[in-house]
Amino acid sequence: MSNIKYKRILLKISGEVLMGSQGFGIDLATVGRVADEIIGLRKAGAEVALVIGGGNIFRGLAGAAKGMERVSADHMGIMATVMNALAMQGVLTSKGVDARMLSAIPMPTVCETYAAAKGIHHLKAGRVVLCAAGTGLPFFTTDTGAALRAAELKCDALFKGTSVDGVYSADPKKDPAAKRYEHVSFGEILSRDLRIMDPAAIALARDNDIPVVVFSIREAGNVAKVLAGKGLFTTIDKD
Ligand code: UDP
Repeated sequence: MSNIKYKRILLKISGEVLMGSQGFGIDLATVGRVADEIIGLRKAGAEVALVIGGGNIFRGLAGAAKGMERVSADHMGIMATVMNALAMQGVLTSKGVDARMLSAIPMPTVCETYAAAKGIHHLKAGRVVLCAAGTGLPFFTTDTGAALRAAELKCDALFKGTSVDGVYSADPKKDPAAKRYEHVSFGEILSRDLRIMDPAAIALARDNDIPVVVFSIREAGNVAKVLAGKGLFTTIDKD
């Protein structure tokens, strides 16, 4: 067994990661590439639960801004996360990985309904667990869903794959003097309003003492490298 710092991880990726260079939707070649990253984590000895957002298809707030009632709009966003989870489950299965999707909204002919005990059971059996439908509730996000599932599934860390290699003091694309943190506390993320995840997700991770590891998901092989403590990433924790 390799030397990994976290045995059980919750990997959160935004829906936008799955659209690749397209402007919208699901690019299956990119889903395959992310699936390979997950396979890398499994090979390194980690148990992996996954939460995928839905922003590549629909965001509730965008629907609400265009005159749609928010609850229905958020339910559409939740359905978008289900489509992404199905794409990932299908691709992982084709690659020979035992993957099990659990949905926060019951859809029994499609997949199992989420329950923490079921998730833990599948993780212990070596399956990749896909937590679909966010929290199942409108007015939430998949970042908060990811922090919630990380706590429920007793994960050792929440890995947040983004398009940048960590947390910066300001947007590095706009401010060349922006500083990248190796380590930053939950308190500082909240007090400086560094929007790497929703404040609700950060507070949930803080209250349950789950470190958040922020890294770039865009480079091949990077997630397994980060799991081994190598390469560029930022760890957010208590102090
Ligand atoms: N959503 C929700 N409740 C949840 C998770 C998601 O209502 O628990 C809806 C919400 O409308 C959100 C959309 O699903 O805009 C897509 O999720 P998110 O924006 O978190 O996706 P990401 O930005 O990570 O791709």
